[in-house]
Amino acid sequence: MTKRGTGQTSAQMLAARPHAVYVWVNAYLDYPRALAKFLRREDLQIVGPTWFETYKWEGRWLTDIVLDHACWLRSAQRQGYASAQTRILEPLQPCGHPGCRSHVTHPCEGCGRTAGRWPETEAT
Ligand SMILES: [Zn+2]
Repeated sequence: MTKRGTGQTSAQMLAARPHAVYVWVNAYLDYPRALAKFLRREDLQIVGPTWFETYKWEGRWLTDIVLDHACWLRSAQRQGYASAQTRILEPLQPCGHPGCRSHVTHPCEGCGRTAGRWPETEAT
């Protein structure tokens, strides 16, 4: 863990919301996944910038998207980033499923949250 910039990446990972999507600088994900494990943030979904071109977030809700401080997006990826951001639910923001926030004994069928909250990480 001596790579330049690790401190900033670590800080970003630790500050990320539970189950956030973390966008690494390239498609080589072994290093950031090892770092997330080291930080006990295995709840994070680590992806590369091409994730924005696959539109895999369509139909699912996200807690947040964190771009690594060194991550650079090309035009098509920036467009994907803009539309993926529309899938981020703020805490307590209903997802559109009827009675989203009324689901207190089991997760909402629409977004997977209970009472409008995502499950917390064990690490925190
Ligand atoms: Zn919901």
